[in-house]
Amino acid sequence: MRETYVRLLCPECKKDWEAAPDELPEATDDFDCPGCDASRRTAEFTRTDHDLQTLKQLG
Ligand SMILES: [Zn+2]
Repeated sequence: MRETYVRLLCPECKKDWEAAPDELPEATDDFDCPGCDASRRTAEFTRTDHDLQTLKQLG
């Protein structure tokens, strides 16, 4: 079994990291960047459309 990660990129501080989908809020919920004070919808942190789909399907 392969672990699945969502790749994230903060649009403000450019921090990039990965997280398991079940550690993240819903795509349309607010998420606070762990690297700065940015608070945006989780969907805005996903790096690619593929990462967004992973979040929507498994989050
Ligand atoms: Zn940030």
